[in-house]
This record gives sequence, structure tokens and C-alpha cells, in this order.
Amino acid sequence: MNARKEHPFQGWGLKNTDRPLVIAGPCSAETEGQVMETARALKEQNIEIFRAGIWKPRTRPNSFEGIGSKGLIWLKRVQSELGMKVSTEVANVKHVYEALKFGVDIIWIGARTSANPFAMQEIADALKGVDIPVFVKNPVNPDVDLWIGAIERIIGAGVSKIGAIHRGFSSFERHSYRNIPQWQIPIELSRRMPDIPIICDPSHIGGRREVLQEISQKAMDLNYDGLIIETHPRPDEAWSDARQQLTPKSLNQLLNSLSLRKVNAQDPNFLLVLDELRTKIDQFDEAILEILEKRMEVAEQIGVYKKENNISILQPSRWQEIINKTLQKGKNRSLSNELIGQVFKAIHQESINKQTRIMNEKV
Ligand code: PEP
Ligand code: MN
Repeated sequence: MNARKEHPFQGWGLKNTDRPLVIAGPCSAETEGQVMETARALKEQNIEIFRAGIWKPRTRPNSFEGIGSKGLIWLKRVQSELGMKVSTEVANVKHVYEALKFGVDIIWIGARTSANPFAMQEIADALKGVDIPVFVKNPVNPDVDLWIGAIERIIGAGVSKIGAIHRGFSSFERHSYRNIPQWQIPIELSRRMPDIPIICDPSHIGGRREVLQEISQKAMDLNYDGLIIETHPRPDEAWSDARQQLTPKSLNQLLNSLSLRKVNAQDPNFLLVLDELRTKIDQFDEAILEILEKRMEVAEQIGVYKKENNISILQPSRWQEIINKTLQKGKNRSLSNELIGQVFKAIHQESINKQTRIMNEKV
């Protein structure tokens, strides 16, 4: 993540603009009692921004799809009785109008909606002339341009307070988290849009409460500007996302456990050592590029050879042999299966692409 602004939320009309910004509250507003009980407990811990889903885009039908507009009256109570800012998700134009009518302070656009350019444009059009903060979650699929495009549509509507929320990416492959974080994607977003603050949603990345601390710490290590964390007074009884919600008390413990890194270290000695280490990294990156170039040249030679001998490109047994060998060797060098698997899959795919091109070239 780039060196980030020290107070990215200055001018957003929030009480506390220190990092990390914390947004907390239940996945869904369920009852007036649950909303008020959660908000009171959070307020006691100086959390100033409350979240609650009013409309819930669920993967399968016949699950709880949100309490609907009547929940907005409960959010109004949270605002007026506790002085907290309230936030909710909007997924269509009707939601935008309802949320604005009830004076919601902050809105966010969910991962299923940010993946849909038409829906994003309609929401952006409905936001013309509105100046509340708007957060855009990453789309469900790992496409940084789609995420940037969604943010650009909101910028195009003239909204000036825009943030991004990283909530991970869905995948068919099983993973220890519910949604794979793919940290390189938010890092790339930040590189391309350095003025957009970015917060992490460890709840939807992790999918279970045991891993929320490690994900939140990782986000802090990467200089994220804040966290949005699902909180419920009795998580196991929650009507949605029960496994990933924390009690307000556990949220407090989690926040207290985080080590916060300085955004910009000024100490010249620190900078000197960092610079040396970065020079080393740059040299290794150079060496990796050189090796990749050489490997691809050999892959091309193999492609030509296969063509001359009329042999098919994909030889599954050879690929299996490479992956087994590299995983084992990687392990001996303390390189994770995840890293080696991904790197070699990508290299292998590129070799196949090159060889396919060669096969199809007309001579
Ligand atoms: C949510 O924040 O409750 C939610 C539905 O998130 P996402 O859009 O990230 O799935
Ligand atoms: Mn949720």
C-alpha cells in the first residue's frame, strides 16, 4: 500500500478521524431491540459509526433478505439517542432514496452490486447532488478495473467523499477464509487511486470469528485506513452471517490487540535501512524477470519442437510432475504451497499460451 494520508477522513464530518476508522454493527438489522442493544454497547466503547444491513442481497433465495425500510427508523433512533453516525448498504435506486429520506449518514455499495456496471451507474445517477460519504466494496470477482470503474461512476456523480472497502473475492476453490483476500488487488487499487481511502472488512473475508484478528492486523500492517466489522450481542443467534460476527466486547479486545504502524516514519536511520532492503528486493525482482524471460524462451523452443513433431501442447503428466516437484522443493525452502502453486500455475499457463500461438501460426 502507498504511503497513506495521516487523516484520510478529514472533512468527512466525522467526530474522530484518527486511523483506523472503525465501523461496527450487525450484519443485519433484525429487531429494534437488537439494533439498540448493539449500538449502545458499541457507543460505550467509543465506536462512532454504526453499520447495519437493511436490505441483504443473499446468495440463495428463501434466506433472510433484510428487514427493509422499517429498520431505517431504528437507525434514526441510534442517531438521535446515541449521537452515532449510521451506515447501510444500498443495492438499487430505491434503496438510495429510502436511505437518504431517513437521513442515513454513510452508505456503502456491496460486492454483488459493484460487479454490475448498470446497477452502479443507476446508483451513481441517484447520488447526483448528494454529498454523504459513499464506500464501494470490491466486486465479488477479482477484477481491479471493475472495482475502479465502480468508484469512477460515483466520482462522476460528483460525490466528493468516497472510500473503498476490501471484502475479499469469491472462488470455487476451497480456502481457509470465506473470501480470498488477494491483497495485491487492493494494493493495486491504492496505487492507481491514491486519494481513495481504503478500509478492510475482515468479517466477510474471514467468514469466521477466529480469523478476524489476524486479518485486521494484516490490514493495519498494510496501512489500511480503517475496518468495518460485524458485531452482534449474541452472534450465534444472528439471522445472517452468524459465524463471523463478534460481540461488542470481543470487538473491543480485537481493536486493543492491534499494533498500529506509523504511516510515514521520519527517522533517517529507519529510512536508510528500509532503503537498503528495498534495493535488495529490486535486485531480486530484476533476477526473477530475467529468469522468467529465459524460461519463456525455452517454452517457445519446446512449442516449435512439438509443432514439428505434431505432438499436443498440454501434457498433463508432465505438468503434474512439475507441480509435485516444485511444491516439494518449495516446502524445503519454507515457501508456502499457496505461493508455489500460484506462481507455477501462472508460469505454466503462460507457456501454454505461447505454445498455442506457435501451433496456430501459419507457416
Ligand atoms: C455486508 O456487508 O453485510 C455484505 C453483504 O457484504 P458483501 O457485499 O461484502 O458481501
Ligand atoms: Mn454480512
